[in-house]
Amino acid sequence: MTASGLLLIISGPSGVGKTTITRRVHQQLGGMLSVSVTTRPPTRTDTEGVDYQFIDEDKFNQMRDGDELLEYAEVFGHAYGTPRKPVLDAISQGKLMILEIDVEGAIQIKSKTNGAFALFVLPPDEQVLLKRLHNRAREDENAIQGRFKKAKAEMARARSCGIYDAFIVNKDLDQAVDQAIHLVQSRCKATCTKQ
Ligand code: 5GP
Repeated sequence: MTASGLLLIISGPSGVGKTTITRRVHQQLGGMLSVSVTTRPPTRTDTEGVDYQFIDEDKFNQMRDGDELLEYAEVFGHAYGTPRKPVLDAISQGKLMILEIDVEGAIQIKSKTNGAFALFVLPPDEQVLLKRLHNRAREDENAIQGRFKKAKAEMARARSCGIYDAFIVNKDLDQAVDQAIHLVQSRCKATCTKQ
């Protein structure tokens, strides 16, 4: 089943497993994954052009001022943005385009476009999230605590902003992926085609 011509937003706090869910939704439903630009330095697990396009602040500002970004936000002191053209091209070609972005970016897209579908991934509880942030071993303790604090604020903001179409609790990864796929398929029933 291919979900066609749909802009799908997947958000969630750091460590919740949203990248894994996003990749598996993409594997199963096809379509395209948006590659964001960011001024944050790559981590040891990042691949240039796959996880992000890593750019400097001047280039980011140039893209933002040139209206090349569909949305942008500052997260953890770094700028992140979604290049506009690949998204508009994919949607106009009837493809599924998946964006993994934060709440502020999702709010911008929901206010600018018609028909974007937004999912927010939640942890089973806060302590599980803190444990997952530690298990990733990506950041030092200070950064982990910063991400945990931001995660709690982001979950509250996601609940109160009213733009998310559904919330998925990632207690079991397979179930969370199935739920996301089911939600997307229900949303685009009219435009899904069997392949
Ligand atoms: P990370 O640095 O952990 O890869 O990402 C930090 C946060 O930035 C995550 O919540 C991620 O979803 C968000 N993010 C990644 N790319 C974009 C983007 O293009 N726009 C916005 N608004 N947020 C993004």
